[in-house]
Amino acid sequence: MKPFEKCPVCSGELKQKEVEKLLRGGKNTAVHRVNAEVCLHCGERLYAEETVRFFEKARNKLKYQELSGFQPLGQSFKVEDGWPNKQSLEAGA
Ligand SMILES: [Zn+2]
Repeated sequence: MKPFEKCPVCSGELKQKEVEKLLRGGKNTAVHRVNAEVCLHCGERLYAEETVRFFEKARNKLKYQELSGFQPLGQSFKVEDGWPNKQSLEAGA
Protein backbone atom coordinates (compact mmCIF):
# COMPACT_ATOMS: atom_id res chain seq x y z
CA MET A 1 0.00 0.00 0.00
CA LYS A 2 1.30 3.38 -0.96
CA PRO A 3 -0.42 6.22 0.88
CA PHE A 4 1.15 8.91 -1.29
CA GLU A 5 2.06 8.96 -4.97
CA LYS A 6 3.62 12.41 -4.80
CA CYS A 7 5.21 14.45 -2.05
CA PRO A 8 2.40 16.17 -0.08
CA VAL A 9 4.69 19.16 0.51
CA CYS A 10 6.02 19.95 -2.97
CA SER A 11 4.49 17.29 -5.27
CA GLY A 12 7.97 15.97 -5.98
CA GLU A 13 8.74 12.38 -6.87
CA LEU A 14 8.98 9.88 -4.02
CA LYS A 15 11.51 7.08 -3.85
CA GLN A 16 11.73 4.32 -1.28
CA LYS A 17 14.99 4.51 0.65
CA GLU A 18 16.49 3.19 3.84
CA VAL A 19 16.90 6.13 6.19
CA GLU A 20 18.30 6.61 9.67
CA LYS A 21 15.60 7.84 12.00
CA LEU A 22 16.55 9.27 15.38
CA LEU A 23 14.04 8.39 18.08
CA ARG A 24 13.94 10.31 21.35
CA GLY A 25 12.19 9.38 24.55
CA GLY A 26 12.97 11.29 27.72
CA LYS A 27 16.74 11.69 27.76
CA ASN A 28 17.36 8.60 25.67
CA THR A 29 17.85 8.39 21.95
CA ALA A 30 17.96 5.45 19.57
CA VAL A 31 18.86 5.22 15.91
CA HIS A 32 16.55 3.14 13.75
CA ARG A 33 17.29 2.15 10.15
CA VAL A 34 13.96 1.99 8.40
CA ASN A 35 12.40 2.24 4.96
CA ALA A 36 10.70 5.50 4.08
CA GLU A 37 9.36 7.22 0.99
CA VAL A 38 11.75 10.12 0.49
CA CYS A 39 10.97 13.11 -1.71
CA LEU A 40 13.71 13.55 -4.30
CA HIS A 41 13.00 17.25 -4.45
CA CYS A 42 12.66 18.54 -0.86
CA GLY A 43 13.80 15.56 1.20
CA GLU A 44 10.49 15.10 3.03
CA ARG A 45 10.26 11.63 4.54
CA LEU A 46 7.02 9.68 4.66
CA TYR A 47 6.67 6.63 6.83
CA ALA A 48 4.18 3.80 6.68
CA GLU A 49 1.47 3.86 9.34
CA GLU A 50 2.85 0.81 11.15
CA THR A 51 6.30 2.42 11.14
CA VAL A 52 4.90 5.55 12.79
CA ARG A 53 3.17 3.37 15.39
CA PHE A 54 6.46 1.63 16.04
CA PHE A 55 8.19 5.01 16.53
CA GLU A 56 5.67 5.88 19.23
CA LYS A 57 6.13 2.55 20.97
CA ALA A 58 9.91 2.83 20.81
CA ARG A 59 9.84 6.42 22.15
CA ASN A 60 7.73 5.32 25.10
CA LYS A 61 10.07 2.45 25.85
CA LEU A 62 13.03 4.85 25.76
CA LYS A 63 11.24 7.28 28.02
CA TYR A 64 10.54 4.63 30.65
CA GLN A 65 13.98 3.02 30.31
CA GLU A 66 12.55 -0.25 29.00
CA LEU A 67 15.58 -1.08 26.96
CA SER A 68 14.80 -4.59 25.73
CA GLY A 69 15.06 -4.51 21.96
CA PHE A 70 17.67 -1.74 21.99
CA GLN A 71 21.37 -2.21 21.52
CA PRO A 72 23.88 0.08 23.24
CA LEU A 73 25.59 2.39 20.76
CA GLY A 74 28.10 4.42 22.73
CA GLN A 75 26.89 7.38 24.75
CA SER A 76 25.08 10.42 23.52
CA PHE A 77 26.03 13.92 24.56
CA LYS A 78 24.81 17.48 24.36
CA VAL A 79 27.19 20.31 23.52
CA GLU A 80 27.43 22.54 26.59
CA ASP A 81 25.49 25.78 26.45
CA GLY A 82 27.77 28.58 25.34
CA TRP A 83 30.66 26.29 24.40
CA PRO A 84 31.40 27.85 21.01
CA ASN A 85 31.98 31.19 22.76
CA LYS A 86 34.00 30.03 25.75
CA GLN A 87 37.42 31.70 25.93
CA SER A 88 39.04 28.79 27.76
CA LEU A 89 38.39 26.36 24.92
CA GLU A 90 39.62 28.60 22.12
CA ALA A 91 43.30 28.00 22.82
CA GLY A 92 43.57 24.27 23.44
CA ALA A 93 40.58 22.15 22.55
ZN1 LIG B 1 8.83 17.25 -1.54
